[in-house]
Amino acid sequence: MRAPRYVLLDVDNTLYPKSSGLDRVLRRRIIEYLMDRHGLTAKEAEGARERYVKEYGLSLPGIMSDFDTDVVDYQEFIHDVDIEEYVKPDPELCSMLDSIDAEKVLYTNSSEQHTRRVIAALGLDISIFGHIVDFRSTGCIAKPFPESFEAMLRIIGANGEDCVMVDDMPKTIVVAKQVFGMGTVLVDEDDAACCVEADMKIKRISDLKRAIYPVQGL
Ligand SMILES: [Mg+2]
Repeated sequence: MRAPRYVLLDVDNTLYPKSSGLDRVLRRRIIEYLMDRHGLTAKEAEGARERYVKEYGLSLPGIMSDFDTDVVDYQEFIHDVDIEEYVKPDPELCSMLDSIDAEKVLYTNSSEQHTRRVIAALGLDISIFGHIVDFRSTGCIAKPFPESFEAMLRIIGANGEDCVMVDDMPKTIVVAKQVFGMGTVLVDEDDAACCVEADMKIKRISDLKRAIYPVQGL
C-alpha cells in the first residue's frame, strides 16, 4: 500500500470500538423508531431492520423505500442518545491522526450532526478533517454502494487510487478495493472477519499509522 493523499475514515465502530456499546444502543433506537413512528411490532421492526441492512447496507434507505420518512426526524430520533456515556476522549487517537501526513476525511453512512458529536466526545478537533461526507451528502446512498463512493470522491476531489479507506465493514472494504482501487484497512476488533480485499487488518484505530506506514511505524 503506497502512502495515501487521502485517508477516508468511517466513524461508528471505527474511530471508537464496537465494544463501547453505542452500536447496540443505536440499533435499539432504530427498532424503537419503526415502532414509534410507523406502528410496527418489535418483532416486525427487528425483521425489517435486518432486511434493510442486507439489501441497502443500512436501515435508513430501506425505511425510506417502505415508508414516508423524514430523514432529519429519523436521524434525530435514533441519535438521541448520550454519546459521552459510550465514547470517551482518546488523546492517543488525536496525536496519531495529527501525525499522518494526508488529508483526513470523515466518510460515514450516519449524519454530520452525529459525526460532530462523536468527534467531540473523542476530544478531537473537527478542523483536522478536510471534509465530512455523510449519508445526505452522497444523495442518500449508503456505503458500500459504488454510487456513494463516486459522490464522495467528487466532493473531496480525489481519485480512488489516492485514498485509503478505513472501515469496520468488510463489504465497504471490498468495494473500495475492487471498484475504486483504494488502499484498504479493515478495523476488526474481534479479529473475526475474513476479507482478502483488506490490505491491512487492525484491531483498533490506534494501530492505523502502523498499518499505513508499516516500515516507519510510530
Ligand atoms: Mg462503521
